[in-house]
Amino acid sequence: MSVRTGQQYLDHIDHQHRELWIRGEKITSTISDHPAFHQITHTMAHLYDMQHDPALHEEMTYPSPTSKEAVGLSFLQPKTTADLIRKRTMMKHWADYAGGMLGRSPDYLNSSVMALAAARDYFKGNDPRFADNIQRYYEYIRDNDLCTTHTLINPQSNRAVSASESTNRPIAAHVVDQHPTKGVLIQGARMLATLPIADELLVFPSTVLKNRPEDQAYAFAFAVPCDIPGLKFLCRESFDYGLSHYDHPLGSRFEEMDAVVVFDDVWVPWDRIFLLGRSDLCNSMYTETGAVSHMSYQVLVKNIAKTEFVLGIMAKIADTINIGQFQHVQEKIAKTAMTVEMLKAFQRASEEDAQINRWGLMTPDFAPLNAMRNIFPRIYPTLIHYLQRLGAGGLMAIPSEADMQNPDLAPDILRYYQAAQADADTRNRLYRLAWDVAVSSFGQRQVLYEQFFFGDPVRMASAYYQNYRVGPLKERVDAFLYRND
Ligand SMILES: Cc1cc2nc3c(=O)[nH]c(=O)nc-3n(C[C@H](O)[C@H](O)[C@H](O)COP(=O)(O)OP(=O)(O)OC[C@H]3O[C@@H](n4cnc5c(N)ncnc54)[C@H](O)[C@@H]3O)c2cc1C
Repeated sequence: MSVRTGQQYLDHIDHQHRELWIRGEKITSTISDHPAFHQITHTMAHLYDMQHDPALHEEMTYPSPTSKEAVGLSFLQPKTTADLIRKRTMMKHWADYAGGMLGRSPDYLNSSVMALAAARDYFKGNDPRFADNIQRYYEYIRDNDLCTTHTLINPQSNRAVSASESTNRPIAAHVVDQHPTKGVLIQGARMLATLPIADELLVFPSTVLKNRPEDQAYAFAFAVPCDIPGLKFLCRESFDYGLSHYDHPLGSRFEEMDAVVVFDDVWVPWDRIFLLGRSDLCNSMYTETGAVSHMSYQVLVKNIAKTEFVLGIMAKIADTINIGQFQHVQEKIAKTAMTVEMLKAFQRASEEDAQINRWGLMTPDFAPLNAMRNIFPRIYPTLIHYLQRLGAGGLMAIPSEADMQNPDLAPDILRYYQAAQADADTRNRLYRLAWDVAVSSFGQRQVLYEQFFFGDPVRMASAYYQNYRVGPLKERVDAFLYRND
């Protein structure tokens, strides 16, 4: 099959009948019609349709090595730097469409599965069948253009002990049985999966596991369709309030949703298992396979799009109400522009120093990507703080579309909401967008997302500290301390 159309994506998720719960109710209606999911599923459909746009088709697809049909470029296994740049160009199209506000456009995890399949011999170390499984799975989602989401983290019940020690009745998803034909039986929960309207769920390792016998029940990597019997998604409340694009410019389009995932006796077929019972292989899966570099590269492209979008909004606010003359405003906009340039420099460095990894993939250099994935969670909240400082009380002076259309209010609105450089309607559109980036539930969820989606920033920084090679630098300082010239 070739790249999907938006309609094919919608048809697929509507026919899957996954168990999706929201606000105490199990969704029994068509998912793409449900108020919490209507907009996001149609946004996803638009991403798929972009691959068919004659102006973009060439830049977003390549011929599948097996079917020869056009498939999504994020699945391409890059062999040259030019391949990486092609992938980056494709990913930027999707990221720009959403102003970087979609964390789970399908290219994020396509990049992961693509790299894992290249490293299939890594999985052979666990079981020779698992190498074939990951390769077949990669070809399956590539050739059917399926969208995956993932769940990595155990429920937040007790972080002082490992999952196997936490209670007498285990909470975290774990293996309870294995059967020669039925597969592996999973019970328990994982804390979060963003985008529960994906086609497939990757249940992958993340938390560092101990290597004791009792920890092996928590050591696995597998993939299941989102409608596999026994799988439940417990969604948080929606941050899409059902408002128009005018009123809620981002939340009405890009509310991805997050859900706790419950495995209520899920039999995972053997051909969907990639790792099992090996803490050591789970712990090093992302680094040893190179998947972390390819995922980080996609994240960098998204972060550039997001920071550019925020910068554009800040610059428009400065123009609109004539505050560009004030130094602190200039400084805040300048720092945001410097962040864009820093991210672009990380991108160039990762491409310039890209190398073929041990699995044969041209892989962007991890050093700048690792710096990026550690620094962006610290920078993004600051950028949002800047936007709040620029918009200030104006972020509360945002009449609704209904207010604008009410003939009794319109004259007041047109007069009192106008700005030095924009009429009331244009100012309102801009400020509603800024509100949705910096103030609304949608915007604040983005701040939380950027801080945490790649892991706990504190522990990530600790790992960064421990792995960064400062030895030669300390020697240089030592030499300086005793220098006589
Ligand atoms: C919007 C959003 C979307 C997400 N989407 C997904 C998704 O799609 N799939 C997925 O798998 N995950 C997702 N996550 C979860 C994300 O992976 C975790 O939030 C992240 O790994 C941190 O884990 P935690 O939230 O359990 O925090 P915890 O580990 O419980 O940490 C809570 C606090 O305790 C501190 N702490 C805990 N343990 C230690 C320790 N050992 N040392 C030092 N400090 C410690 C932390 O620093 C933090 O301050 C998402 C998170 C958010 C916010």
